[in-house]
Amino acid sequence: MKFNGKTKLLVVLVVSIGLIISIYLYIDNNREYEEISYKEFVYRVEKGIVEEIRITDAAKLRGKLKNGTKFITDNPRRDNFKEYLLLHNIKVIEEDSNGLVGQSISFILMLAGIGTVAYLIKRNTKLAEKEMASMSNIVTENSTVGQITFDDIAGNEEAKESLKELVDFIKDPEKYAQYGARMPRGVLLYGPPGTGKTLLAKALASEANVPFYAVSGSDFVQIYAGLGASRIRELFKKAKENGKSVIFIDEIDALGKKRKGANSHGGSEEGDRTLNALLTEMSGFKGNEGIIVLAATNRIDTLDEALLRAGRFDRQIEVGLPDVNARFSILKLHSRNKPLAKDVDLRKVALETVYFSGAKLENLMNESAMMAARKRDKQITMEHINKAYINVLVGEEKKDRSSISIRDKEITAYHEAGHALMAKKLSKFNRVTKVSIIPSTKGMGGFSLNIPPDRIYQTKRDIINNIMIALAGRAAEEIIFGKDNITTGASSDLQKATEMTLAMIGSYGMDEELGLVNYDVVLNNNLNTDISLMERAKELLEEFYIETKGILIDNRNYLDSIAHKLIEKESLEEEEINKILAS
Ligand code: ATP
Repeated sequence: MKFNGKTKLLVVLVVSIGLIISIYLYIDNNREYEEISYKEFVYRVEKGIVEEIRITDAAKLRGKLKNGTKFITDNPRRDNFKEYLLLHNIKVIEEDSNGLVGQSISFILMLAGIGTVAYLIKRNTKLAEKEMASMSNIVTENSTVGQITFDDIAGNEEAKESLKELVDFIKDPEKYAQYGARMPRGVLLYGPPGTGKTLLAKALASEANVPFYAVSGSDFVQIYAGLGASRIRELFKKAKENGKSVIFIDEIDALGKKRKGANSHGGSEEGDRTLNALLTEMSGFKGNEGIIVLAATNRIDTLDEALLRAGRFDRQIEVGLPDVNARFSILKLHSRNKPLAKDVDLRKVALETVYFSGAKLENLMNESAMMAARKRDKQITMEHINKAYINVLVGEEKKDRSSISIRDKEITAYHEAGHALMAKKLSKFNRVTKVSIIPSTKGMGGFSLNIPPDRIYQTKRDIINNIMIALAGRAAEEIIFGKDNITTGASSDLQKATEMTLAMIGSYGMDEELGLVNYDVVLNNNLNTDISLMERAKELLEEFYIETKGILIDNRNYLDSIAHKLIEKESLEEEEINKILAS
């Protein structure tokens, strides 16, 4: 029998209520009866005050006096007893089983109830034990980890260097001990998703040739109280039994969330217990056992400071998005086993994949290969890669386009033309590699792939440009179709524009009026948030919107040309857009 959480709760509730009622009935049944001796009973019979007797085979008899008092006495089990009673005008009720039915039912119910509750408790314990046992499944096979080396990771040179030092440390901890050097207890890898953090951890274990224990912070968010903490203890026990090893905790933020303010807790009580268990285990290392704890997070800013203190995750390594050279290496790495056609220029692909993570690049090459395989083409060509590029970014092209009205097509064309034209007009460094009005399965009406310049820092002007590019879709709609005909198509643009504006003025201190205050800090510390941040964002967005509209109106001829060409061809490449703008 399988119960899900809700039914289990319901069953426990019903059984508990039944149990309480039957225990009550059982106790109550016996409580109403006054226990008297047999001698007293005979006396009462003789006195003529007994009204009825229930005869059974049981050791006790029950009866009622004429005044209603119920009593219980020893059963003489003698012959002619019934006749004796009848002769004294006493009503005799024979109860072989009948009279006991109520009692027995409540007794049976009680037993059944106790049984069910015991079963459920046992089942839960078993589940919990099973959960504990599943700890043994978390050990990642050495064979798979063993194949991954630092050479399988492109880019991330600093992170690799940092971890390579640890390889030596794990292999020969005594060497370091002689110099009094303490091995870092914990290393935190932080950076955006898909940048190779897990890969680095695996490479460390395999290069040091030690077992790799991988868990995810979210595995510890358990419904059973105390299980998270015991899982942590179990994990470390296992690692210590094996001697040297690498323990990898992915998504550590799931269990080590920052506790905000004095009163409120970022994590749950259970989360805190688990976190404390982790910290205790880490403090328990002697330091030179050759065990390294690696953790990964996408959000270092949300981590509890307790985790980052000395002796804990005191070495922090950033694993960032790859730059153009790293992207080129990653693309080459993931093309190693793929038949690439001569026309494939991976450097060009690297140039056009700004902000792609390693995982996304791997996905791009995999999609390209799948596309070629599906078509049974001999090699992967640039065309496959271009198509895969769009799939990875915006989802597959929607197959059925017949249902799109001419009007919708027109609106999308002007909207996308607005984005593209704005990107081109605002900075000569902005690239627009493709504009399309082909709807995607991700729900987008069309898209304009604007590639910002590949730089470490963004200037205030870059951010404002990006905000204006985002607003240009809505602005173009308004210019062409009028204020009342603007559409819902701009919602995600507005979301992006708002986010960028708030970050610009609230996080980067780029607004003279609001000054250098970082409002994330203000909010995180529950300080007064009654500030003009919102008002100022609204004001700025309005200014940017008016400016955007002005630029589009001044370039109306280009806007029309791009939109018309889009309606005709549905998608345009960068060269075609440049041609229109040069005319
Ligand atoms: P998350 O934060 O989402 O857990 P992660 O940073 O741990 O992500 P990985 O799981 O290590 O990312 O990477 C996912 C996949 O992306 C890898 O298996 C690999 O194929 C590819 N990849 C990511 N970064 C790189 C890289 N620098 N070099 C080669 N491949 C990479």
